[in-house]
Amino acid sequence: MEKHARVAVIGAGQAGLSAAHHLIRRGLNRDRLVVLDAYPGPGGAWRHRWPSLTLSTVNGVHDLPGMPFTEVLDAGQDPSSVPAAEAVPRYYSAYEEREGIAVRRPVRVHCVSGGGVSDGADERFRIEAIGPDGVMEACVDGLVNATGSWERPFIPHYPGAELFRGRQMHTRDYRGPDELAGKRVVVVGGGISAVDILAEVSQTADTLWVTRTPPRFSDEPFTAEVGRRAVARVEDRVRRGLPPGSVVSVTGIPWNPRYRDAQRRGALQRRPMFTSITEHGVRWADPACDEHADVIVWATGFRSALDHLAPLRLRGPGGGITMTGRLATRVAGRPRLHLIGYGPSASTIGANRAGRAVAAELLEALTIPVSDGP
Ligand code: FAD
Repeated sequence: MEKHARVAVIGAGQAGLSAAHHLIRRGLNRDRLVVLDAYPGPGGAWRHRWPSLTLSTVNGVHDLPGMPFTEVLDAGQDPSSVPAAEAVPRYYSAYEEREGIAVRRPVRVHCVSGGGVSDGADERFRIEAIGPDGVMEACVDGLVNATGSWERPFIPHYPGAELFRGRQMHTRDYRGPDELAGKRVVVVGGGISAVDILAEVSQTADTLWVTRTPPRFSDEPFTAEVGRRAVARVEDRVRRGLPPGSVVSVTGIPWNPRYRDAQRRGALQRRPMFTSITEHGVRWADPACDEHADVIVWATGFRSALDHLAPLRLRGPGGGITMTGRLATRVAGRPRLHLIGYGPSASTIGANRAGRAVAAELLEALTIPVSDGP
């Protein structure tokens, strides 16, 4: 890998591209930056979103710094006809080209070590990865980790899961309602993905919704103020070393016409969480309440994909990583290590803002002069 690189960005989704943009803009020479990404092409996790998730059904993909999304859409194109899994990768691809961000892919980082202080001197980070030509290594002074969460789907364990004869799938595997048509489908989870899937699948399948706690819908429009409150709560948690937690627990699930329609059809009647899984369905404490299921959809979220950072031993006693810095992107006690797209910056708008903060703080820590332009 590039011998002269001083900074590595791992992950080229919204967070990694934003960080790369700001690092270059604020004075880091392009040949001092290495950007690595595990996927074969641009788009980050958006490459994998289900086909029926279109630009009109996503919550909103914010423009990357310096280039409006609309530049890659055809004039007058109807957003409901454009799958996000096509449009966002096209946008990121054009962005990488315009900004001169050379992403090395497919390169999967499997281990990062070093980065501490040894004999009073800063140790470099050592990155080990697998790329098209086999094992690759790089040593850098500063590291921005932007690996998102798509690689770490979370499925809670329930007794009997291994006995179930039907199909179990995670949101990550969902490709649209067609393959579930005519089946009895149990959807587990109280977040936006669960409700999105229910709203679609309930039109052609018999669905049952199960959540751990009662879902909280919100009539309040998702204003900038609501967003700020949610981000502030998550930021407070990571500054205290707690796992980031869910944004929906603060904002609630905002009603929209698709959810209202699902509610009218009775698809949003919810039951509390089952206690076990049987060969043919799900079971509550009272077996008389057993429900048959052909498919269980686990819309139970994701965790941050940070396994490759395990040698750095970042997790503290609170179960999370203690974060600091202006927007809580910097790992406490590690001035040259930033996590972006983690906690308060885990949204397209959050990733944008965090990219700017990361660039300023990291270049200062590396004593690379910060300028306002390339
Ligand atoms: P990602 O887009 O996941 O990018 C991470 C990159 O890191 C990937 O390209 C991957 O290849 C790479 N990577 C991972 N591990 C490694 C490794 N070990 N080595 C090298 N590379 C690696 N947010 C919004 O703001 N608006 C929305 O409408 C919205 N809708 C969503 C819908 C769904 C179903 C989900 C699950 C999330 C949604 N989000 C939305 C959240 C969204 O994922 C983030 O906002 C944002 O796109 C994530 O960007 P990211 O760069 O942090 O991560």
